Amino acid sequence: MKPIEDIFPLLYQAKRIVIVPHQKPDADAMGASLALSYFLKQFGHSINIISPTNWAGWLNWMPGCKEVIDYDLFKEKAEKILDQAEWVFCLDFNAIHRTKNLAAKLEQVTCPRILIDHHQQPDEKCFEWGISDTSKSSTCEMIYDFVYASGHSNKFTKEMIDCIYAGVVADTGSFRFSSTTAAVHKLVADLKDRGLEHMHVHNDLFDNFLENRMRFIGHVLINRMEVFYEYNTVLLVIPKSDLLRFQVKTGDTEGLVNYPQSIRGIKLVAIVIDRDEERKWSFRSKGDFDCNTFARKYFEGGGHYNASGGRSSLSLDETVKNFHIAMKENIHLLQ
Ligand code: 5GP
Ligand code: MN
Repeated sequence: MKPIEDIFPLLYQAKRIVIVPHQKPDADAMGASLALSYFLKQFGHSINIISPTNWAGWLNWMPGCKEVIDYDLFKEKAEKILDQAEWVFCLDFNAIHRTKNLAAKLEQVTCPRILIDHHQQPDEKCFEWGISDTSKSSTCEMIYDFVYASGHSNKFTKEMIDCIYAGVVADTGSFRFSSTTAAVHKLVADLKDRGLEHMHVHNDLFDNFLENRMRFIGHVLINRMEVFYEYNTVLLVIPKSDLLRFQVKTGDTEGLVNYPQSIRGIKLVAIVIDRDEERKWSFRSKGDFDCNTFARKYFEGGGHYNASGGRSSLSLDETVKNFHIAMKENIHLLQ
């Protein structure tokens, strides 16, 4: 993978560009894709954002979000666009399989793929150019850096500012995770100087849900949460019946994994959700428990040191049993 700086001189020739975030894009993946598209449009490029899957409805406030193409819904159209693409930017994921149903097509494209990402162990051979920096709080921070490094800091628009700020807020847990460096705070100060209205973005990100989600969270915390004090671990197990009962939609379960972290002494929080196609795991840790290694070793996943995800094709009961085994094997790291 060649350094991303190598593409800066090439930005001036108009191209057909596709931007792809990871499946079920979150505020960082979606924010980074939209911010980059608003930046690149200013050079005369034609831009399409293709999401591998749908996304949370509460992200639709993001400028440009409604124009994003959902590959699951518009496969033919998306494939035609990809066939004609001259560059494909891959944002906020480190390996092509993170784009799910889109992965086969993305592997086939003949044009260069360009990576901008902050996850561990990127599959570098799949990308012609790119930057992978695990010290970065978010892909949105990397898009901000990209704009500066390319020498075009005069090209930040209101749309880019809102999208970048949203991704940074989301991926830093509102500026609390260790990835919140001085550079992140300087970025925010710079965005404020450029007219950021942060209260609007916070409102759109955090006070924008429907009643069912609040009721669902209450139900989960009372009925589906188990605390293993001996292991400083909390486990949330969500059966399919809960998803149906509370009409849970894409994105409604996001953030649930953060609630138990406020219990004193807890080091690891795990949540498993019984989705149609698989059992989907999320892990969050505090301090020196490595969620990336844990997810890779036991649940076909990965991510960051303190936040990762994984999956299982087993039944909910079976995969939960495996979690108990994994937790016990890691007792020395959890105590
Ligand atoms: P979340 O729990 O919010 O879905 O994901 C936490 C972090 O782990 C995110 O940065 C996400 O990209 C990554 N992640 C989630 N699921 C997987 C997975 O199945 N495989 C890998 N490699 N990373 C994942
Ligand atoms: Mn991210």
